[in-house]
Amino acid sequence: MAVFNPQQLQQLQEQAKRTCGYFSKAQLSELQSQLNCSLDSLLKALLPVAASFSQAPISHFNVGAVAYDEITQSAYLGANLEFSHQALSLVVHAEQSAINNAWLNGAKEISFIAITDAPCGYCRQFMNELSTSKRLSIMLPTLDTKLTELLPSSFGPQELDNPERLLASNIVAIKSFSSDISSKLQSHLQHAYAPYSKNFAAVEICTQTHGVFYGRYAENAAYNPSLSPMQSALSQLALAGLTIEHANVVEVTLVQSEGFENQQAVTEAVLASYNANIKPKYVTAKLA
Ligand SMILES: [Zn+2]
Repeated sequence: MAVFNPQQLQQLQEQAKRTCGYFSKAQLSELQSQLNCSLDSLLKALLPVAASFSQAPISHFNVGAVAYDEITQSAYLGANLEFSHQALSLVVHAEQSAINNAWLNGAKEISFIAITDAPCGYCRQFMNELSTSKRLSIMLPTLDTKLTELLPSSFGPQELDNPERLLASNIVAIKSFSSDISSKLQSHLQHAYAPYSKNFAAVEICTQTHGVFYGRYAENAAYNPSLSPMQSALSQLALAGLTIEHANVVEVTLVQSEGFENQQAVTEAVLASYNANIKPKYVTAKLA
């Protein structure tokens, strides 16, 4: 089994912090020659790096995941994120975090995902929404399998006659915004995946010294494993090695499509539990 030594792991963790858990094709090839191993083994060897970004104040159970995009041949780390003063339903699982990370960075076809532990039922359902769900390989420490093996007789987008899939959805056309937003936030809104509710939504978190973080809404045919834009953005913050309490957040903007706004309450609740001084700015978008 290919493994990195503690010093290499430390270096990789520092590197991953700077890129929010992104490893390019060139970096993966270099690491593969360092370990002299297959790509599958390398993705598994990166799991401890992914798990080091876990924030699990409730369970103390650190989970890491690495998603691989076939098109760009790059990898994206993910880790579980728990909120100590919020409902457990807000927890972001490592698989969601890695897939969200890949999606926000333009990945189109996740062909395999390595995970430190077997995916829970919730994550199996979340992954079933992917464009690649029928051929997605799942690599666990002691078992390599397929999502179709782990989730037979599944309920997915096809049951609701939804032709779109997560990572392969239409670009949302926007007519106007209630106030100005950055072009990046606009682009994230246009790439949000909300085929069931049409509640397209995205979040921008501006920090004083650590840059800007984005999140998008990702729905699921079963509704429950949907990922809110705030969870999506906070997961990105965690992959930069930050928490919202220590990131010097100066502004949070939530943009949602007009008439369907249902992300406001959850955004406020999460923020209030950390810092009551930050009031999110709300913007609505008129769809074209
Ligand atoms: Zn899970």
